[in-house]
Amino acid sequence: MSSNRSEIATNAAAASPARPVVLTCAQPTGRLHLGNYLGAVVNWERMQNDYECYFGVADQHAITVPKVPAELRRNTHACLAQYLAAGIDPARSHVFVQSHVTGHTELAWVLGCICPLGWLERMTQYKDKSRKQESVGSGLLYYPVLMAADILLYNANAVPVGEDQRQHMELARDLAEKFNREFSPTFNVPGAFIGQAGARIMSLQNPEAKMSKSDPNQGGVVYLVDTPDVVRKKILSAVTDSGSEIRACSGSPGIKNLLAIFSAVTGEPVADIEARFEGRGYGDFKKAVADAVIARIDPVRVRYEALMKDGAHLDSVFKAGAEAAQRTAWRTLSKVYRKVGFVQRT
Ligand code: AMP
Repeated sequence: MSSNRSEIATNAAAASPARPVVLTCAQPTGRLHLGNYLGAVVNWERMQNDYECYFGVADQHAITVPKVPAELRRNTHACLAQYLAAGIDPARSHVFVQSHVTGHTELAWVLGCICPLGWLERMTQYKDKSRKQESVGSGLLYYPVLMAADILLYNANAVPVGEDQRQHMELARDLAEKFNREFSPTFNVPGAFIGQAGARIMSLQNPEAKMSKSDPNQGGVVYLVDTPDVVRKKILSAVTDSGSEIRACSGSPGIKNLLAIFSAVTGEPVADIEARFEGRGYGDFKKAVADAVIARIDPVRVRYEALMKDGAHLDSVFKAGAEAAQRTAWRTLSKVYRKVGFVQRT
């Protein structure tokens, strides 16, 4: 994270004297799991101290593949409630729904007009996803342009993304550079926190694979909204091996994963945990991991449940976030519209 910080600080200094801007857009997937929390949301929460953060719930990206409308609506609220419960603070950050800020699609149109079709057709995520479906909406092809608009609209200096988004980030940078070249310098060329600084959490049932909401074996996935009983059961049934050594290098990926989880939720270094559990059995260790995970995430679940009962509060957070985001968006858009030759909107 420290090298990223200096990269961002340099970008920011060039862009404005204010705090560097970070943009995070995540699709409303419903329930966040322990991997999302420890690998991403915990870092977002910390970033609020140093950066001006925009957190978008990407409902427009979500509909690039078919969605059940009532579920999408519910998941959008649920996603916000989980972010807030996990420490995303609307008093310090801008939290909004992508479709509430019209600037995203407006800028995407302009960027799409300078984006060669070939740039989109070679995106590997598009190729993978379209191969799996009989017919695809053109929104799926256009997705990376909308993502570039999400980022460039706020002149973000950095975007925390997973490795799978590297190619889309490159496209956003290429589009920013192309626009700056063809018109005049307008956009900051964003950096990325590729890979992020957070823990990589594996499935409890198949510790060779990342914990994922699409895991067919849901026993391996701990959700933030799971009750303590459910969390305990999942962790006590985690796959280990027939050994007994509680060491990250013991050769058991299950134990390595549990040590990583324990360390991530408590902040205790892995070596200290190993020393503390030397000579003790897997049973004792798993119980301790379950207790530590529950102590960390159960307050999040309790706050989440209270927030989900207060739809008016969630809507008011979205309203304030959208107003702030739209103000920034409009500043960028009015520049862009002037540069491409649109008559000023009165
Ligand atoms: P996804 O819902 O898979 O798009 O993930 C949302 C965010 O959570 C991304 O920043 C991912 O990098 C992060 N993430 C997802 N799964 C894991 C995992 N098992 N361990 C760590 N981070 C994860």
